[in-house]
Amino acid sequence: MSAVLAVGLAAGLALLGGRLRWLTPGGVVAAAAVGAAVFWGAGLRGALLLAVFFVSGSLLTAARERAPRTARQVLANGACAAAGALLIPVAAASAWLVLAGAIAAAQADTWATEIGAYARRPPRLVTTWVSVPPGTSGGVTLLGSVGGAGGAAVTAAILLLAGGQRDATVAAFAGGVVGMLADSVAGATLQATYRCPACGARLERSSDSCGVAAIRTGGVAWLDNDVVNLIATLAGAGTALAWR
Ligand SMILES: [Zn+2]
Repeated sequence: MSAVLAVGLAAGLALLGGRLRWLTPGGVVAAAAVGAAVFWGAGLRGALLLAVFFVSGSLLTAARERAPRTARQVLANGACAAAGALLIPVAAASAWLVLAGAIAAAQADTWATEIGAYARRPPRLVTTWVSVPPGTSGGVTLLGSVGGAGGAAVTAAILLLAGGQRDATVAAFAGGVVGMLADSVAGATLQATYRCPACGARLERSSDSCGVAAIRTGGVAWLDNDVVNLIATLAGAGTALAWR
């Protein structure tokens, strides 16, 4: 796709996302940049993969009335895919696997989180299998895992229907499932967790409405949910590359 058309199309889609309150103003800019890279490098097939991820993820998120996505959240999910797309002109086969594996992982993770929120039983931590409150990072449910695998399957199916090769399709699906698993494991082990000294609440950020600094109880200080999502897309891309 020509650069001018790629930028125009991506900007239009991102602005629509902003109007629908799926994205913050910063999120619009980040989504336009990711979209332009994918549309330019990967053409209509890439645009279809990204658009389905963007629309399905936003609809699932909006159904639970969650906040619009910020630039940091958009880049955490989209930077690896954009990098893959930009490399397509120099190394098409490998770069396509990076792009598809990263999008499949982001889609699997988003679908797992949003669909898993409707599970009746509380999630279990992927590492210790202990029951944890809904929304805990690293917590998995059967419903969420099946939903996430469905998300990876949809990415893979679009790739196949849009003329992708069969082994690349299977590689993308594997990347999505492994990326989703990597997200849970990294969320349970590496992601920073905090406790508020005032009210005792367990937190995933370093402060709550009590207004006092929370105490870190686990994980790596700078490693938040966005970094975990980036790790998941890298794992998805790496798995797709290695699978083929
Ligand atoms: Zn508190």
